[in-house]
Amino acid sequence: MDLVDSIRTRGFRKWYERQLVEGHLYLVTCFLCMILVAACAEQLDFRAPGAAAAIALVVGGGILGLYSWQRYQAIMTVAECYGGHSTCAQCGAYARFEVLDWGDPPPAAPSGAQPAAAVGPWLKVRCRKCGNGWTMP
Ligand SMILES: [Zn+2]
Repeated sequence: MDLVDSIRTRGFRKWYERQLVEGHLYLVTCFLCMILVAACAEQLDFRAPGAAAAIALVVGGGILGLYSWQRYQAIMTVAECYGGHSTCAQCGAYARFEVLDWGDPPPAAPSGAQPAAAVGPWLKVRCRKCGNGWTMP
């Protein structure tokens, strides 16, 4: 499990920080793609000799921009979900826990909609400061 290994080796703070950096890199990529698509679409002339290259830039930039936007949303959703459950309810220590156990998220509801909390595996954690245990997300 990549998420659990990453949290165990780096700690939750580093994992969370990396999620935010990676997510925002995707956001910047999406923004740059929007600029590229807008600039190329504005200059697009189907009768000009380089029209195929400009069309390829518009389509490629659009696809990469959409992919980047989806990755940004997915990464930030996971980071926010686990980040919201990373404070010990007993002593208030933030991100000072060890992962004891983990498992797959519950299966999707019959309608196909995932519950809001099921963005990743559940983690059973224990506070390093006071020993309190809880389950994330
Ligand atoms: Zn605690």
